[in-house]
Amino acid sequence: MDEKQNAWHPGEIVPVSGIYACDCGRGHHWSTDVKGHRFPPMPGDCTGESWSLRTQAHPEVPT
Ligand SMILES: [Zn+2]
Repeated sequence: MDEKQNAWHPGEIVPVSGIYACDCGRGHHWSTDVKGHRFPPMPGDCTGESWSLRTQAHPEVPT
């Protein structure tokens, strides 16, 4: 599947390493260098419910 997902819920598998931002608008961030890990729970004061990719750590070079 080549579907472009752009938001992930806690517990889902990290597709690419990078910096993720929550969707609550308060600027919570989470970063990882390891794809294949699972997204953490939202921060305690966060009202959002998903993470979206903000900065990809190792951009894939188009071929
Ligand atoms: Zn938040």
